[in-house]
Amino acid sequence: MTQYFRNDTPTRRPDRKECKHYYSYLGTLRADFNQRCGYCDDLDRLRIRSFTIDHFVPQNPKDFKHDIPPNFYYNLVYSC
Ligand SMILES: [Zn+2]
Repeated sequence: MTQYFRNDTPTRRPDRKECKHYYSYLGTLRADFNQRCGYCDDLDRLRIRSFTIDHFVPQNPKDFKHDIPPNFYYNLVYSC
């Protein structure tokens, strides 16, 4: 029997590119990630206050430059 890492793959909505501040996407990301951490798939119900938003590509990397704005939805991950 095949074991999958997660049952529900997070689904990003096409209409969510940018917002004023990335943190205003917390509820949106929570819904899009099925209330689960984008990295370890842990469910947020027992410790929702410790869940936050991670920038997949870091905002201020030391060794390379990029021009991804901090509020770019597709770089945000709901995570524990
Ligand atoms: Zn996690």
